Amino acid sequence: MQSKKLKIYNTLSRKKEFFEPISPPHVGMYVCGPTVYGDAHLGHARAAVTFDGVYRYLSFLGYKVRYVRNITDVGHLEADADDGEDKIAKKAKLEQLEPMEVAQQYASSYHRDMELLNTIRPSIEPRATGHIPEQIKLVEKILEGGLAYEVNGSVYFDVLKYNETKKYGRLSGRVVEELMSGSRELDGQSEKRNPLDFALWKKASPEHLMKWDSPWSLGFPGWHLECTAMSSKYLGNQFDIHGGGMDLMFPHHECEIAQGNACHQADPARYWLHNNMITINGQKMGKSLGNFITLQQLFSGEHDKLEQAYSPMTVRYFILTAHYRSTLDFSNQALQAAQKGYKKLINGHRIAKLLTYQEDPEVSPDENQVKQIEKSIADAFSSMDDDFNTAQAIGHLFNLLKKINSLYTGQLHPAQLGKKVFEALIKTFDSFITDILGLLEEKGDHQEDLLKVILELYGKAKTAREYHQVDEIRRALKSAGLIIKDMKDKVDWAYEE
Ligand code: ZN
Repeated sequence: MQSKKLKIYNTLSRKKEFFEPISPPHVGMYVCGPTVYGDAHLGHARAAVTFDGVYRYLSFLGYKVRYVRNITDVGHLEADADDGEDKIAKKAKLEQLEPMEVAQQYASSYHRDMELLNTIRPSIEPRATGHIPEQIKLVEKILEGGLAYEVNGSVYFDVLKYNETKKYGRLSGRVVEELMSGSRELDGQSEKRNPLDFALWKKASPEHLMKWDSPWSLGFPGWHLECTAMSSKYLGNQFDIHGGGMDLMFPHHECEIAQGNACHQADPARYWLHNNMITINGQKMGKSLGNFITLQQLFSGEHDKLEQAYSPMTVRYFILTAHYRSTLDFSNQALQAAQKGYKKLINGHRIAKLLTYQEDPEVSPDENQVKQIEKSIADAFSSMDDDFNTAQAIGHLFNLLKKINSLYTGQLHPAQLGKKVFEALIKTFDSFITDILGLLEEKGDHQEDLLKVILELYGKAKTAREYHQVDEIRRALKSAGLIIKDMKDKVDWAYEE
């Protein structure tokens, strides 16, 4: 296992640390998944591809990863606040659907899009609504420990009391005193003792659609609670990696840390990883800015901001060309460059699979070439070991691609490299494309286009009375299970019956 070399940037300690799992070779990884009330967009794609990459590389190194990613189907209120409408229930009302219909519809479309991006499905994908009893138990535990209070059927986490013994804000680098002075005064209506307190359980208003019985009221859990309930249930009270988008760091993950400490006297995870955001032509993506692009729009090209359609693998490759902690700016130009880069690598991958080693006593080994290849291989892996730096690793892959292309054109002879280095070159390239970066060859639907060209050639040959060629084309198609249909004024093809 190459594990001892892997360094991960831990948001909690603000530094890169050598990765040491709690009980190797097992690794527990929890990633905050989507709130399913709308189509998946570039932001979803970046988080999913980032943690798919982490999962893939850890698996490549030999770890046995239990990867849990939740689906939020209740309790996520508008503006990520403690008051307001539930995002899913709001959509359900608008579309006159059951909230569970909305959740199912968008969970399905999320899975479809993530599959197109070739992300591996998590080991466990729990839903918030499937874990209400677990969440109620946690609220009881926090109340027992004196770190929460009940008001009119709702229960809130007491941040100031928690902050007396544990520091609230360690993850995002916020200090309670500063947060206090920056927050709005509570108006007389608020049930909270303090503006920083957050809901663990909310009493539902009569018109609220999704509600459950609890010791305090007919209500629903606070958004942050589900992740504590599901991560501890499936990964234990402390596990290795917690991931999510940077926008979840505060307050969501900060609250998870507080809840974890209140319930289990431990930080829920040892390593906290956050992927950075996507910008569109330098701007934040937002519905009000008219630059909100869903993945389906990206794949079809149907959006004002898009000059063309971009395939799922182009999008995946585009995301991997930046380090996950850097911002990634979307533009047509950047995606067109990504499309080229992706195709170059995939062409190289096709060639690499065709190359075979040949001995040749006439050819002497080229030490220089060997050194260059060995260095690029080592550099590609050390980039991944350096906090999953796919951007740098791809750069080194392009150096290897040059060698593969030279072998293909004959400028470089396999015997110049020797069997060991030749095989290492092919194996490394294949491992990166297939296992680590997860890039698939998109064959596309070229068949119709190719048949059109063949039928045109057939028609020309017929007109010119070149019967030898006419027969040859017929035979070639027949061997592919197709027949040519000659009609009065046109030619077409059909499957041979
Ligand atoms: Zn979460």
